[in-house]
Amino acid sequence: MRKPKLRELGEAIKALIKGPYTTKFPKKPAEIAPEYKGFPEFQEDGCVRCGGCAEICPTRTIERRDLIEEGKRVMFRNYANCIICGQCQLYCLTGEGIVMTNEFDKTTLDRHNIYEEIEDELVFCEACGAVITTKKHMDWIADRLGEMTYSNPTFFVYKGYEMGLADKDAGKNHPGFWREDHMRVLCPRCRRNLMFKEDWEG
Ligand code: SF4
Ligand code: SF4
Repeated sequence: MRKPKLRELGEAIKALIKGPYTTKFPKKPAEIAPEYKGFPEFQEDGCVRCGGCAEICPTRTIERRDLIEEGKRVMFRNYANCIICGQCQLYCLTGEGIVMTNEFDKTTLDRHNIYEEIEDELVFCEACGAVITTKKHMDWIADRLGEMTYSNPTFFVYKGYEMGLADKDAGKNHPGFWREDHMRVLCPRCRRNLMFKEDWEG
């Protein structure tokens, strides 16, 4: 048998005293550099559930699910599909709705641990029932518009509900559009139809 060289012998003795160079992951959590780009995470306060990231995500990891019966939107994410590209954070509407973390290990025996969901109430068109967006999204737009919010009839009424200044039942009991329908929360399509009716049909 070939005898070990002195250097190799030295290395072996050092390893016996100091332990192995490799980490003990997954037995012990790995030390990760703060700059390491891992999985992204939704931020409860920063995300307005607009659904923009679902449009941009190249692997369809993020889905926007509108549960009409329950009146809510769920932003759903399945980590198993995520390629950690960072597009969702880069193009997030608010810039703070989803953040890349340095979390890289999603190994689990329960596949539900790889799902993430956040939700919010939906806002519907009061004429046709179509989904407009979420309450958080409406509030975010209104905050950015400031006083200009009140130049848009839908926002004017939406904020009026909050302040108890508008009647939710106004105009509910007749078909088609009437003059008082200006004071309703309408989707862009119904708002356009109402304006055309006013201008062209009198
Ligand atoms: S606010 Fe950002 S993270 Fe939230 S749904 Fe919109 S784009 Fe996605
Ligand atoms: S990092 Fe990329 S793949 Fe992962 S959720 Fe965001 S956009 Fe989708």
